[in-house]
Amino acid sequence: FDGHVVEALQQEDVAALLPEPDAESDKYRRGVVGIAAGSARYPGAAVLAVGAALHGGVGAVRYAGAAAREVVRAHPEALVGEGGPKDAGRVQAWVVGPGLSQDAEAERAVTEALDADVPVLVDADGLRLLARRGSAPANALLTPHAGEAVALLAGIGVTATRDQVEAERLRHARALARGYRCTVLLKGSTTVVTGPTGPARVNATGTAQLATAGSGDVLSGLAGALLAAGLSPVDAGSVAAYLHGLAGRLSSDGAPTTATAITAALPEAWRRSR
Ligand code: AMP
Ligand code: MG
Repeated sequence: FDGHVVEALQQEDVAALLPEPDAESDKYRRGVVGIAAGSARYPGAAVLAVGAALHGGVGAVRYAGAAAREVVRAHPEALVGEGGPKDAGRVQAWVVGPGLSQDAEAERAVTEALDADVPVLVDADGLRLLARRGSAPANALLTPHAGEAVALLAGIGVTATRDQVEAERLRHARALARGYRCTVLLKGSTTVVTGPTGPARVNATGTAQLATAGSGDVLSGLAGALLAAGLSPVDAGSVAAYLHGLAGRLSSDGAPTTATAITAALPEAWRRSR
């Protein structure tokens, strides 16, 4: 791995990081995560991200965006609003991007989530919009797959192909973390999580059956919840990748799986990790 120090989270590391409520906990103290995702065209991304966040150890999940009706129908537990992050109540972390599209409204959602002054996970369309700015807040967690990494690299003046990113995953993840000065989780067959400095973490709990539509939206909702529960961006990203990979394996067991089934397996993955 290019001389970088690399760690792989073990089960006991994950166990130590998983948020657990104590006797004094209430839902607000457990943390509230905000999800700004989905659009009229892609309501499913919002449904999936919210569904995974509900299994991520927070006390509540707030949704802000165009798919409020679909979200509340699928998840009556969610607190929903049709405005942007600015109009939503207080949250401890935002997830912005899955299924958002790239129109003016999407751009506004990204700006509001970045300006909220809480940790923010940026994924999917949010990354394409972030690439146009070429910068991110220090407490951001970017979760590109290789194609989105190419767009992000272009945003900081680096030309690379998808194949080059795939061939040197750690080097490119690190270049993004340094260029945007925040934490980067590069998705793929092995997932790499790194900040601008310090050891990188790799995760290989997954299976190629995770390469299915909506799988990344599940990861984003889960990692965002862990951010809101108080984990650092590197810890939230690497614990989420670990649980998501394990849930993928459990839901698949050798057969094709779905994003919905991966989400349903998150509690079992959590139990096996604590
Ligand atoms: P997305 O491309 O945003 O839907 O995210 C896909 C998710 O599936 C990410 O968490 C990837 O790490 C995971 N994934 C995709 N392909 C593979 C693979 N070949 N092996 C393991 N995990 C994968
Ligand atoms: Mg995706």
